[in-house]
Amino acid sequence: MVRRLGHPAKIQLYVTAVSVVGIAAWLAAFSGGARGLLAANGSVALALTVAVVVSELRWMSFAHDEAGELTLSTTFAFALLLSAGTAPAVLVLGAASALGDLLQRKPVQRTVFNVGQYALSLGAAGIVASSLTGDAALLAQPRLSLSGFIALLAAGTAFYLVNTVLTGTVLALRQHLSIASVLRQDVVVHTFTYGVLLALAPAVVVVASVNAGLLALLVLPVIAVYRGARTSMEKDHLALHDALTELPNRRLFLERLASELRMAGPEEQVAVLIIDLDRFKEVNDALGHHMGDRVLQMVGADLQRAAGADALAARLGGDEFAMVLPGVDGADDAVRMAKAVLHKLTSPIEIDDLTLDIGASLGIALYPEHGSDVSTVMQHADVAMYLAKDAHGGYEVYSPERDPQWRQRITSPADLRRAAENGQLVLHYQPKADMRTGRVDGVEALVRWQHPEYGMVPPDEFIPLAERAGLIGVVTSFVLDTALAQLQQWRDDGLDLQVAINVSVQSLYDQRFPEMVQQALHRWSVPAERVVLEIPECTVMADPRRAARVVAELTAIGVTMAIDDFGTGAASLASLRQLPVSELKIDNAFVLGMATDSADATVVHSTIDLGRRFGLSVVAEGVESQRVWQLLERLGCDQAQGFHISRPLPADQLTPWLHNNLKPTTNAEVVRLPKSSTRTAV
Ligand code: C2E
Ligand code: CA
Ligand code: CA
Repeated sequence: MVRRLGHPAKIQLYVTAVSVVGIAAWLAAFSGGARGLLAANGSVALALTVAVVVSELRWMSFAHDEAGELTLSTTFAFALLLSAGTAPAVLVLGAASALGDLLQRKPVQRTVFNVGQYALSLGAAGIVASSLTGDAALLAQPRLSLSGFIALLAAGTAFYLVNTVLTGTVLALRQHLSIASVLRQDVVVHTFTYGVLLALAPAVVVVASVNAGLLALLVLPVIAVYRGARTSMEKDHLALHDALTELPNRRLFLERLASELRMAGPEEQVAVLIIDLDRFKEVNDALGHHMGDRVLQMVGADLQRAAGADALAARLGGDEFAMVLPGVDGADDAVRMAKAVLHKLTSPIEIDDLTLDIGASLGIALYPEHGSDVSTVMQHADVAMYLAKDAHGGYEVYSPERDPQWRQRITSPADLRRAAENGQLVLHYQPKADMRTGRVDGVEALVRWQHPEYGMVPPDEFIPLAERAGLIGVVTSFVLDTALAQLQQWRDDGLDLQVAINVSVQSLYDQRFPEMVQQALHRWSVPAERVVLEIPECTVMADPRRAARVVAELTAIGVTMAIDDFGTGAASLASLRQLPVSELKIDNAFVLGMATDSADATVVHSTIDLGRRFGLSVVAEGVESQRVWQLLERLGCDQAQGFHISRPLPADQLTPWLHNNLKPTTNAEVVRLPKSSTRTAV
């Protein structure tokens, strides 16, 4: 699985930075701290030091298992700061925290980070207090003035804020949550507890200065606060987790999924797996709830293990589980996880002396391909799961054609008309490169339907519908207008390109079509020779004479005419000669197969040959690898298009890419192709 790039690196960098700065602060406090301790009121300082160390030994962890541990030592360390100054407090809390962590055998990195973040939090409190009053040891004075009191509040706030931000950030980075959302949660959960723990500090100092032994009495209220906080954390934990399996529940799962979708970069995909046990009900009915519960616990543990650190497993309810896999590289990654999960769940489960054969069905949906929001992706993973269930187990990746609901909806021409009006049709552009220079010199405009429920619908699924419903004109005029407007914008940006537009048979034979083209050229001030119109070979062959007439008319306007999907429609040489086209586009299928299939290679070879003889430019579509590029180059193919160069992309993503791969026309420098293809979902 391809992890979200830079993520672990970001955490590492952050943890290292906090550790380094914090440890430096701790070391800086060392000698001053030791001197300060000796100079301070001996018994108070000693009592507080002991209290800090003891409370670090018996620590309390909040629901933040990874970051944020709020411990009793907060009260005593802050008290030490108020009575002996910043350096002693930093020194003692850092040393106590390190000792506590070492005794609990926490990883070194975590131990160092904890020392660092404490040093920074207390350091910040000390700086705030002394910048307001000149000395952080506010309670070492005989009287606490009003400004001293304000400084005390400010110092407590500084400690709380710095501590929360430092620890919350680790959590946010690790769980792919936004820092703001973690902090918001933290503020709600922690403010009260922190407030009470910090507010107790002055009382601790006063009590200790009367009699250090009295401190023992204060331990009770401090523990009361601590237990109250723990109970509230447990309640929060229960609200978001399933008590039986300890997995996150539906609510937390949906929250995490939402944040993964928000954080996903433009080229990142997120997979959702929904897993439903096949024969759970039988086990539950026959063997009782107790056995059912144990099955669910074992399944939960299996899923948790399979998910590891990269994915999140959850129990949605009943015998339904789910997983979210961030940063996947297409369906293959999700399928690999699905197979691992199914392998585990379809092997017999041994409980006591019984061997149970439960089985499971699993559905997969991908963001953004199968939906652009949480509910659509979840719904589609569910549809896929039911398809898998119908097929008696195994897994299914969502596909709109197999979605029963989809089939009902998509056949409504009214929907398509509304889509065109509501701006749901969008164009993606796929670069075409000149094979001799390696330069990108054109793009093909490819339409998509950004459906509010079904996500990005590929053209193959609605162009035929549009043709049947007589709506193709709506699509064609949208594509012409949008593509030419975009081309003009690129020209203004100094990017000189040709744009290829697909013309379906009905548009081609529409009498108003040539005029529509001319008007669009005029509207966007685009020179006709910058536009290529692609017509499928089968269209040409259906009525060669009529095609020849329209093509001649369009050629007269000055646009370039190309035959698309060449090789699939058996165009005869005779009909080719009659047709004033200037470009042949070899069909995807032949190019995809040419490296492995000799029949495909022959079609490619002879098309390039034919093109050369007739003086036609030949474009190969579906170039997915460097190897195929080289084969085509050797054969003398003119232009290439395919995932090896780039996937089709929306204009806002393609523009920066084009700027990197294509210099202004005056610059004759050859621009190299990118080493790896730019990938995005289509
Ligand atoms: P096409 O004209 O043959 O377009 C090329 C298709 O191949 C595109 O699919 C493109 O994404 C895909 N492709 C490009 N490079 C590669 C590659 O390296 N490997 C593979 N496996 N595929 C590659 P898309 O965008 O789904 O378009 C499908 C078809 O829908 C187009 O086939 C075209 O016939 C039709 N279409 C697209 N846009 C329009 C339009 O605006 N109007 C009309 N009438 N038809 C359109
Ligand atoms: Ca095409
Ligand atoms: Ca094609």
